[in-house]
Amino acid sequence: MESSPSSIVACSKHTDTLDDVLSLLRSTSIAWNRPGPAAFDFRSDVVTTPTLLILRAIIETTLQDDVYQEDPTTSFLESHMAKLTGHEAGTFVLSGTMANQLALRTHLTQPPHAVLCDARSHIIHWEAGGLASLCGAMVQGVMPSNAEFLTLEDIQRKAILSNDVHKCPTAVISLENTISGLVHPLPELQRISKWARHNGLRVHIDGARLWEAVATGQGSLRDFAHCADSVSLDFSKGLGAPMGAIVVGSAKFVDRARRIRKSMGGGMRQAGVLSSAARAAVDETFGPGIWGRNLGGKLRGVHDTARVVTEMWVRRGGKLRRRTETNLVWVDLASARTTYEDFAEIGRNFGVKLDGSRIVLHFQISNEAIRRLGLVFDMVLATR
Ligand SMILES: *Cc1c(COP(=O)(O)O)cnc(C)c1O
Repeated sequence: MESSPSSIVACSKHTDTLDDVLSLLRSTSIAWNRPGPAAFDFRSDVVTTPTLLILRAIIETTLQDDVYQEDPTTSFLESHMAKLTGHEAGTFVLSGTMANQLALRTHLTQPPHAVLCDARSHIIHWEAGGLASLCGAMVQGVMPSNAEFLTLEDIQRKAILSNDVHKCPTAVISLENTISGLVHPLPELQRISKWARHNGLRVHIDGARLWEAVATGQGSLRDFAHCADSVSLDFSKGLGAPMGAIVVGSAKFVDRARRIRKSMGGGMRQAGVLSSAARAAVDETFGPGIWGRNLGGKLRGVHDTARVVTEMWVRRGGKLRRRTETNLVWVDLASARTTYEDFAEIGRNFGVKLDGSRIVLHFQISNEAIRRLGLVFDMVLATR
């Protein structure tokens, strides 16, 4: 329904101050008050919704033009994230996919060129082929020999450094952290980074869920980010921002990225509406500083819940596809003789949303959803 001019006048009459606006929203809008459907949704952490604190940040934002780089809220988020990651600069974008594609496009200047990455990577499977269409890049996908994360030796076996005219030279190594919910360990990243620098290769970290890696206590944002020339981080996964991501890197890299971002249509005017939400989500869910609040803020509790869910599955005789380290639990449905479709259907019957064998925990999952998940597990594992 379109709001008529009279309803706008009526609204403004009762909502002169920020507190009026907030109390209006508290009383009329359930969307900002509680997670809603996210409380029962295990499909992904992207389902988390903005909280009242995020709403407050949006209302209190500045509304200057970010293409002119005049919006203090957006510039503040960018410099804050640069500081947390130990890089010189950052540029705010609309999604994690855009962050990865922008970073890789900025690195990849001269075809023929290739991006070497884990064969399971998001940039290969879930970014609509952007590496091919936007970057004109060849992909060198590598399966990790330890089935968890790429080692330097895995990379050395596949990277093309020679001048052989038959081959497509590797220009960038792109590493996802976390990868399928597991932390790419810091010591291995440091080895890879050192070797890559020595050989003139760039390293990009797809850190859509880097927050989760930090929450395990294995390294700070700065420790992980130090291993890369560019890092992308997502605000809208487990942190709860409505949308948004960032790319950090050197000042020169980010200058170039800003021009490419503009060419993709990603230059934003009153970007403060989104960057304020992103900043509030970082502070509220992860916490301040390079380790978050008490190691990862709310994310730590989410990892505890993931361990509980893992235990619920295993105690009933279920097998796992991968170990649980952060917020993703991978149940082996094949060994329980259950298809993805049946699993999702049983979930629907109990009022929880499931997608495939990956169960994703986030801070808005309710205790009631966990209880119902137990009933789903009972059904699935009783019929084995
Ligand atoms: C979610 C995700 C992204 C980005 O996804 P968007 O939906 O575009 O924000 C990138 N990489 C990984 C590893 C992800 O999990």
